[in-house]
Amino acid sequence: MTHAVRHIPYGRQSLNSADIEAVAAVLRSDFLTQGPAVPAFESAVTGYCGAPYGVAVNSATSALHLACRALDVGPGDLVWTTPNTFVASANCARYCGADVDFVDIDARTYNMSAAALASRLEAADRAGRLPKVVIPVDFAGQPCDLDEIAALAGHYGFRIIEDASHAIGARYRDSPIGGTGHADAVVFSFHPVKIITTAEGGLVTTADGRIGERLALLRSHGITREASLMENESEGGWYYEQLDLGYNYRMTDVQAALGTSQMQRLEEFVARRAALAHRYDALLADLPLVLPYQAPNRASAWHLYVIRLQLDQMRKSRRQVFEALRADGIGVNVHYIPVHTQPYYTALGFGWGQFPQAEQYYREAISLPLFPDLSDEDQDRVVAALKEAIA
Ligand SMILES: *Cc1c(COP(=O)(O)O)cnc(C)c1O
Repeated sequence: MTHAVRHIPYGRQSLNSADIEAVAAVLRSDFLTQGPAVPAFESAVTGYCGAPYGVAVNSATSALHLACRALDVGPGDLVWTTPNTFVASANCARYCGADVDFVDIDARTYNMSAAALASRLEAADRAGRLPKVVIPVDFAGQPCDLDEIAALAGHYGFRIIEDASHAIGARYRDSPIGGTGHADAVVFSFHPVKIITTAEGGLVTTADGRIGERLALLRSHGITREASLMENESEGGWYYEQLDLGYNYRMTDVQAALGTSQMQRLEEFVARRAALAHRYDALLADLPLVLPYQAPNRASAWHLYVIRLQLDQMRKSRRQVFEALRADGIGVNVHYIPVHTQPYYTALGFGWGQFPQAEQYYREAISLPLFPDLSDEDQDRVVAALKEAIA
């Protein structure tokens, strides 16, 4: 090789000088944390989504944990999620001592199947062991079947935490995700590979003021300084009360300022991601691949562009294709190893064979590079390398 091949990652942040200036301004200010930047970021997100309340925290993992706590998930409770997700969507229930189970995915959207959920609920109802909370995920940025899942929640009486870590900027029937009114709580992630970033960070939106209040309390040790929430009379200006067992899950002002600045380009980011996705659709149309299916009445935020290899039509294995692309400097990835097959979950009794759609999908899936600053030229390089890898 005469020159090094430049590596193209599968995802990365897009920062401009306004982002850098917003962070620098906080560093020059009085407050690095617990200042005005966090409420300003919360307002930017809730204003965009049309959500009444928003609580920013230090990661989506913390946000999921707090959402479970705010919905009183505890030992003896049951929480269901999808196997096709990052482990955090299931772990949050385990943090609360609850039992976890999974619902298989839809073969086309790769989101939790509403039909599978309906039949699992019917059986669970007969067995007297209904979930307290269901955590569907807007996989790859495509909203899950919110109408169907919310209707089931109404019928069976469970609560919904929507894991929208991939999906800020997505829409469901023209409503922005985070403010559609279908879920009790909606969680966003601002990790650098996600749609907008705060380096590390997460946020919960809710339309329920009591949930919002509990989230805010639990984010900071369960401590309040608000007289109206206290059990006892204030003893003076120093006085606070710990009302519940909370955490330090606070977002810093440095992170929040970056987030507010990033929010200004959210729609631009999603539009560029969508344009790149449609370009992949056109460039890959004739290959032995299943390309992403988009369900009606929703617009994806396009966090991921996942292809499925039609392995019966090629001589290569998924691993060979993946490794050939990596060797070519193409930062492909796989989303996700089914959560129920992780050793932590197999030790709890789960195993291969339980959720066949998620497992079949996993064996064929590869995530191609997709991020706002991916150039058309680099995308062409990805496509050329993929054609060579599957030939
Ligand atoms: C990234 C991600 C998380 C965790 O987000 P963090 O902000 O890194 O804690 C949770 N769920 C899903 C589906 C994710 O993709």
